Amino acid sequence: MAKKKVTFQDIFYQKYEEWKSMLPREIHPYLEQMRNHFLKIDLKYAPMYAKAVPVPKQASDHSYISLKSAYKIKEQMDDYVIGQHEAKKALSQISYYHMAHIKRELETEQVNEDYIKTSILLIGPTGSGKTLLVNTLSRILKVPFVKVDATSMTKTGFVGDSIQDAVRELYYMSDEDMTRAECGIILVDEVDKLAGGSREDYISNSVVTGKGVQQELLRPMENSKIDLFSQTNINSIKEMMQGGDIDNKKISTRNILFILAGAFDGIEEVILKRMKKESGQSIGFGGEDPLTMQNVSLDHLQPKDLIQYGLIPELVGRITYTVPLERLDTEKLYHVLRDVRGSISRQIEQSIFETTGKKVTFSDEALKTIAAEAESFQTGGRALTEVCHRIMNEFLFHLPTLDFEEYVIEADFVTDYLPKTFALITQPHIQQAMLKFPLVARFVDWDKGAVEYITEKLLDRSVISVQKYIGDFMSSWNPIIHKIAMEQERVVITEEILSMYDENTDESNENLYSLLNKKPDFSQFNILLQGSL
Ligand code: ADP
Repeated sequence: MAKKKVTFQDIFYQKYEEWKSMLPREIHPYLEQMRNHFLKIDLKYAPMYAKAVPVPKQASDHSYISLKSAYKIKEQMDDYVIGQHEAKKALSQISYYHMAHIKRELETEQVNEDYIKTSILLIGPTGSGKTLLVNTLSRILKVPFVKVDATSMTKTGFVGDSIQDAVRELYYMSDEDMTRAECGIILVDEVDKLAGGSREDYISNSVVTGKGVQQELLRPMENSKIDLFSQTNINSIKEMMQGGDIDNKKISTRNILFILAGAFDGIEEVILKRMKKESGQSIGFGGEDPLTMQNVSLDHLQPKDLIQYGLIPELVGRITYTVPLERLDTEKLYHVLRDVRGSISRQIEQSIFETTGKKVTFSDEALKTIAAEAESFQTGGRALTEVCHRIMNEFLFHLPTLDFEEYVIEADFVTDYLPKTFALITQPHIQQAMLKFPLVARFVDWDKGAVEYITEKLLDRSVISVQKYIGDFMSSWNPIIHKIAMEQERVVITEEILSMYDENTDESNENLYSLLNKKPDFSQFNILLQGSL
């Protein structure tokens, strides 16, 4: 019988306590580190070991909370977020005060009861950068960040769990550092979609309504303690299995920054209606200076407009700042592509270079054309990815077969991406197909018309593979082409020849024969390609 292999871990677990009692105190942290490491990589020991010795967590080190000035935070945000200057300024200032409060509490180890908790509402159209702003902010502040979608809570019906899971997630994102988790950021997106349903329905019938979800957000947003362990949370189950002592642990939401976000489509109409009412104007009958949608903006927003829109007053009461974001116009979208380090166009250029060694770049005019196209989608920055993928898909697919080291994507490529891509791939693909016919390849030329003819066929999808098309053509006519080539030393394939071939009737075949047999007059052709051997 094979002897069970004893690993170093086996010995380590058995001897841990013994070694600890023998070794000097200074060595203990290293022993503990080693054991924690083994527990992480070797789950099978975890349940057994958990019973014996709970895994001690290392004391929190909160030196990473370095307080940056609002100016510095905004400056760093500028590298990633285009435009939205008012929003960036507001978020930098708010987060500066928030972090200063946290730092003070951590250093003095005293709770500041007078501190009024900050909660922010971002209002801006889809794709204007709400998530990007918060994500960027969290990276600058070096705090964990979790995004939850408010609409998913009404769909799943597990409202409390969803928001509590988001809080738990902060803990796991912070490498299980509780202090760090407790100063994280939670973004609750699409809160504007929570305007429907009544609170009473939610409470009495356990129907998950939008207003019910709003109700559930109140406590965590204010100050509550959430159990780290939940029977439905996979991370906390894993942690238990690894021997983590999380049974009695709670996360305080006191200093977690809650940021709510939504597009709030139509909120301007709510504002206009209220302003008209307040100024005594009835809708449709303007006074001397009639209030219209043109002179109403989010700057006029008041808390009562949000309540009128469908947010519950208690939630509105918890929002300490409302930050509006603007729609991205063509100019801003162009700057996103050009100036943001990880923009989609830069990503494409970089990944092409890394995978193929080819240098493909977007010209400035191409970026402007992509931006204009994306703006028409009305989905802000999101559309940039969609447009870039659409124009580059076919190109990227064929890229390894294309014969160039450098290529510049120009504006006309953006508007005519398929013809341009197919024009690029036709020639090298003909060349590759001709390699299968080495005896005649060097005698056969494909003129410009023929190449364009095949490109057209790719475009109308009557030809799917150039290589197969050429292969079929050459196989059918190889003996004749060979014979003619021997006699004339040159055969030029033209558009006329290919269309005869495609007709595939007795008559067209006869014509094709005579066309092939025609002694070519090279002065008539713009020879693009020579079969190479
Ligand atoms: P929202 O949350 O407002 O719907 P996102 O932040 O998810 O929008 O933006 C979608 C994508 O669009 C981002 O990943 C980013 O690439 C791009 N984007 C949107 N707004 C901006 C902006 N102001 N600056 C740079 N990129 C942006």
